Amino acid sequence: MDVDSSKKFSPSKLKEYQICPRRYAFHYIERIPRERTSVEALLGVCVHAALEALYQNLQNGRLMTILEVLGVYDAEWERRWNSEAIAVFEPGLSGEHYRAVGREALTLYDAAHRPFAEDKTVAVECRVGFPLLAGGEIYRIEGFVDRLALASDGAFEIHDYKTSRSLPEQSELEADWQLALYDAAVRHAWPDTKTVRLRWHYLRFGKTLGVAKTVPELDSLKKDVARLILEIKGDRRFAPQKNALCPRCEYRAICPLFKHAEEVSRMPVQESGIEEGVLLVERLADIVSRKKAARTSLRAIEEEEKATEAELLSYAQGRGLLAVHGRRGYVSMSEKEEIHLPTKTHAPEGHDRLEAALKESPLWPEISKLDGHRLVEGLKDGHWDDASRRFVEELLLRYAKRETSWILRFHPSKEEAEE
Ligand code: SF4
Repeated sequence: MDVDSSKKFSPSKLKEYQICPRRYAFHYIERIPRERTSVEALLGVCVHAALEALYQNLQNGRLMTILEVLGVYDAEWERRWNSEAIAVFEPGLSGEHYRAVGREALTLYDAAHRPFAEDKTVAVECRVGFPLLAGGEIYRIEGFVDRLALASDGAFEIHDYKTSRSLPEQSELEADWQLALYDAAVRHAWPDTKTVRLRWHYLRFGKTLGVAKTVPELDSLKKDVARLILEIKGDRRFAPQKNALCPRCEYRAICPLFKHAEEVSRMPVQESGIEEGVLLVERLADIVSRKKAARTSLRAIEEEEKATEAELLSYAQGRGLLAVHGRRGYVSMSEKEEIHLPTKTHAPEGHDRLEAALKESPLWPEISKLDGHRLVEGLKDGHWDDASRRFVEELLLRYAKRETSWILRFHPSKEEAEE
């Protein structure tokens, strides 16, 4: 995989990497042209073209009528619709539906802002940027502001026009860093700037949302962006990351995650049914479901085993037996005693007292930490003197819990074992 040698990063480019590094690499490193444009993107481009014309004319002292604004929109729509590959992904919706959505959004905006005298436009679709130090190198953060304006109180306002079909929560805009980076760029261009306001116009809803960033917030954002740039520079895999955009991604046909699905979906049914990859996946799916069924029946067998052992034990105990014989072998039963010491987690008080008592005894250097197994082994192997044995036995009596359990073992007969 190529490394990313670029020195210029726009907020949308950085965002693309965050969404999916593979898509980023297709677009910005391998520069593979996108085969189709989504109709939503077309809608956004045409609305932006109309607003650009509106505000550029306004800068020249001419106020366009709404019909003229819609005329620019329609002309742009026609031109692109007829010359680009536009994809409509939403089933049941046509291009005309989206075209009408754009017209309605512009009409709504026009009604709310005409005669557009609330501020003074400084520039439309203007390039802004600033240098950023990351890993000892200087990068440039650059992007296009939809509209930069000066409000009557002298504050800069960065306007962004959105045609998305959902309205974000305020907290999402506060976390958004595209306009915040433009804010940093404006402050870089005009260092005596005191206030910058960020304005998002959600045109389908006729709603404007705003955020104002502080200088420390912008400084912290720049650090995050510098970290992200270093991550991109260090990336050698650009792994695909499945996300909500995948169904509409222009690179699905070449994406390692979806390429096979796309290929198979284009094959005639008879052909796709015998394709090697499809068959292998079928085989593995079958193995996985057989394993699942085997695990389920193993669990049932184990439960049956436990119940039979309990019955066998009760049979043997009722008759004072330690082995029960059958035609295919015999089952032996042995009793096992286990000593459970109080643990730090479940019985901390008992644990601490037992440990303190042992620490004061001459056995501590040998035991060195509270270890039930070593205590029991010490008792069994008989190398402790009587006083030490009595001391440990007393401690265990006071603090430990003794539990006995029965171990049942099936010994197959010779014929059974040979089978
Ligand atoms: S289809 Fe999804 S995973 Fe593949 S490149 Fe596109 S966004 Fe990334």
